[in-house]
Amino acid sequence: MARYNGPVCRLCRREGTKLYLKGERCYTGKCAVDRRTYAPGQHGQGRKKVSEYGVQLREKQKLRRIYGVLERPFSNYFDKAERQKGITGENLLRLLERRFDNIVYRLGFARSRNEARQLVLHNHFTLNGKKANIASIQLRVGDVIQLKEKSKDSPIFQEILAALGQKSAPAWLELDVNTLSGRVLALPNREDIDTNVQEHLIVELYSR
Ligand code: SF4
Repeated sequence: MARYNGPVCRLCRREGTKLYLKGERCYTGKCAVDRRTYAPGQHGQGRKKVSEYGVQLREKQKLRRIYGVLERPFSNYFDKAERQKGITGENLLRLLERRFDNIVYRLGFARSRNEARQLVLHNHFTLNGKKANIASIQLRVGDVIQLKEKSKDSPIFQEILAALGQKSAPAWLELDVNTLSGRVLALPNREDIDTNVQEHLIVELYSR
């Protein structure tokens, strides 16, 4: 499975906003966006006039990077969103939110989506009681994910589980800290998704 392996703070600096790709570090004074407010690279500090296309492109890149999706699968998500009934931008967000790795992150079983993807890949969770290690699986209403019994004691989960439940899960998900499981209660509405993007700009970009 292809993924971006470069420095992730650089992506935030490029977008000029925090994308929260590194978990706890993003909330500390070590955040690169807080320390260097300009774009990375040789011309990062130059003044730039951004075209309408540039604004739309940046919004698309921002959303893609938040969810850690590469160009081709992102464009596939958009095609699927366009074919669905309703508002394309909201459909797109909903498809991204329903990814297995995102739901692991939203429930608090990982500190970032990158970490969630890694944990899913390493077989730490079951989906409806069965083995599932594909981060892009689309979860449906009623699906249940659970941390495997043998994973509870692994060092990576010590810290994660200590903080589990401190942040409330979104309304469309239900976390059970006793069984270390989570259920999809409903499909998320736009107001349930706190991702800070203007999805209409992405729709405009793909409509060019
Ligand atoms: Fe982005 Fe987090 Fe790095 Fe800050 S610490 S630049 S929010 S990934």
